[in-house]
Amino acid sequence: MATIERSLERDPLATVSTACRPAPTCGSGGRTTSGPTHLSILGGGLAGLALGYHARRAGLGFTIYEAADRLGGNCVTLDHQGFRFDSGAHRFHDRDPAVTAMVKELLGEALEQTDAPSQLYYDGQLIDFPLAPLNLMKSLGWRCLGKVGLEVLYARLCQQRRGRDFEGFALYTYGKTIAQRFLLNYSQKLWGIPCCELSPEAAVKRLKGLDLRTFLAEAILGRKTRTRHLDGAFLYPRAGIGTIAEKLAEHCGPDSIHVNSTITKVLHDHARIRAVEINGKDRIDVQDVVSTQPLPHLLKMMEPPPPEEVLALARSLQFRDLILVALFLDRPRVTETATVYFPETAFPFTRVYEPCNRSAQMSPPGQTSLVAEISCDEEDSPRPGAVQEKWVETVRSRLIQIGWIRPREILDSAMVRMKCAYPVLSVDTPDTVRKLQSFLHRFTNLKVTGRNGRLLHASIHDILAMGEQVVCELTSVPRQ
Ligand SMILES: Cc1cc2nc3c(=O)[nH]c(=O)nc-3n(C[C@H](O)[C@H](O)[C@H](O)COP(=O)(O)OP(=O)(O)OC[C@H]3O[C@@H](n4cnc5c(N)ncnc54)[C@H](O)[C@@H]3O)c2cc1C
Repeated sequence: MATIERSLERDPLATVSTACRPAPTCGSGGRTTSGPTHLSILGGGLAGLALGYHARRAGLGFTIYEAADRLGGNCVTLDHQGFRFDSGAHRFHDRDPAVTAMVKELLGEALEQTDAPSQLYYDGQLIDFPLAPLNLMKSLGWRCLGKVGLEVLYARLCQQRRGRDFEGFALYTYGKTIAQRFLLNYSQKLWGIPCCELSPEAAVKRLKGLDLRTFLAEAILGRKTRTRHLDGAFLYPRAGIGTIAEKLAEHCGPDSIHVNSTITKVLHDHARIRAVEINGKDRIDVQDVVSTQPLPHLLKMMEPPPPEEVLALARSLQFRDLILVALFLDRPRVTETATVYFPETAFPFTRVYEPCNRSAQMSPPGQTSLVAEISCDEEDSPRPGAVQEKWVETVRSRLIQIGWIRPREILDSAMVRMKCAYPVLSVDTPDTVRKLQSFLHRFTNLKVTGRNGRLLHASIHDILAMGEQVVCELTSVPRQ
């Protein structure tokens, strides 16, 4: 055993004008950055790398500080003795033409079109996911679907509002049967808070297509319209999603990137960020700073510390870690899907994916792997080894139980924990984030971006677009 997803809001933090940019600083005891303007990028995930990529293109000097010993954050591809798997089931969405063109240019022929749909495992059956009306009808039967129709009608007529929480939204939009079977348990497993405390924003992206218009179109036009709302076709790098970060890093250049460099303090004078402390010892003076680390972490490391009410708000923001359990198998294939969702509480994992259905290069010839995703709270277990054994055994036994794999096919296993994989979007999150942003607005040389910096369910294309947007704002050039 080895250890090893709305349009972007433009928040006030993204409005620092170049006129406010401080003059180049010269050494005050620590290492000093040079050039007329210099960008210090905190975090070397996709957000940090996208900033570096666009800064280089704009001729802006920059340095990326990354805590880990590798780049890419939560969007990497791991290797285990020839078996490759991504840090969670990833796909590149072709939604922003400029970003798609940039990724195509970066990856060239390494980026391929993949056709593998996603499905949902419920009561021993596989159902298309995102939920597709015709397929749902086949699985549930006409009678059940009729009941669903009446539930939706009842919900619309009797409920005064959809409600501002995910539970109200799901019951109002899809009726009790669909909501309870497929949406509420799943969301609670993933986010770890009751659905009545969860923002509808948390799941809305996944539910597109399950509406009356699509149902009628499918019923009349059949399968031709069906694929339009299923995530069957997507772009994917041949050697795994991590190739995007690798190519961005190549473009940034090794001299601009410092790995094993954890930001431990962000020193300020209440109006500007003056310096950052790395690994608890090196102090580096800064000019412009863009933080991509989780928003509460940034606030906690500010010195002087923010007022207690700001820190209390920061503490109320939550993130979910993700445990990945990979089973490496001596057989050519298990499923034909990209990802299978498991909404039932009997399964502790939320999804299982088979990397070689995204690209044949993800497994040695004739072999395959399955990767289960288990969402959990941020805190660490005091005995990581015991946790690993427990999760590997749980995943193994559940997949054997449903007949997907046989014990003798399992060659090896691995477990990986990804920190802050998902920002939890509770009903209070947008307001909390607004207040924290308003506090940070006073720092004229600080911007905050990235998925956990802005607490958005941002996808890769959003993150890459944000990088360009921030650099355009710093250089006062409008994004094309
Ligand atoms: C399981 C999963 C599946 C996903 N699937 C898809 C998908 O199919 N399609 C899609 O488009 N998107 C998907 N995404 C979203 C995509 O992966 C993210 O949007 C993207 O990785 C976010 O990048 P980021 O740089 O904002 O954050 P991160 O990847 O979290 O990067 C932040 C970086 O900052 C570093 N850092 C933190 N604190 C410090 C510090 N104090 N000092 C220095 N460095 C620090 C971290 O080590 C990390 O490298 C998925 C995400 C997950 C978790």
